[in-house]
Amino acid sequence: MKSAEKIKWAAKEALIRLKYMTVSSCIFCKIANGKQKVKHIIKSGSVIAFDDINPVAKVHILIVPKKHIESVSTLESKNAHDLIEMFKTAAKIAESKKLEAFRLTFNGGKFQHVPHLHMHLLAGSKIDWSKL
Ligand code: AMP
Ligand code: ZN
Repeated sequence: MKSAEKIKWAAKEALIRLKYMTVSSCIFCKIANGKQKVKHIIKSGSVIAFDDINPVAKVHILIVPKKHIESVSTLESKNAHDLIEMFKTAAKIAESKKLEAFRLTFNGGKFQHVPHLHMHLLAGSKIDWSKL
C-alpha cells in the first residue's frame, strides 16, 4: 500500500474505532435486541447473522452471538455452545447461498473495532484484507 493510502486508511480506522468505542451501549447487542435495524437478519438459536454495513467482499456477513462476549481474548469454556452455533450458522448460510468457497475470520486486538465477538463470513470476490 502507498503511504498516502496508508494514512487515509489509518485515519478511517481511527474514526471507526472512536465511533464504536465511545457508544455507551454495544451496537451488536442493540442489533440482537432488535433496537437497531439491519439488512437481511437471520436468527438461529443463540446467534444472529446480518450483512456487514461496509462489505469488503461480494458476500460479507457477520455472525454474532446474541449474548455479549467481548472478544476471542475473553472467551471462556462456557461460551463453547455459542461458538459451535456460530460455525453451524456459517455452514448453513454457505449452503443456502451455494457458496463454492468462503472464509471465516475473527478479528482481535487492534484489528477488532466492535467490542462484541463476531465472525466475518466472506465470499464471492477478491477480499480486501487491508480493510477488514
Ligand atoms: P471488526 O473490525 O472485526 O470489529 O468488524 C466490525 C464490523 O462491523 C465492520 O466490518 C463494520 O463494517 C461492521 N458494522 C459495524 N456496525 C454495523 C452495523 N450497524 N450493521 C452492520 N455492520 C456493522
Ligand atoms: Zn454486545
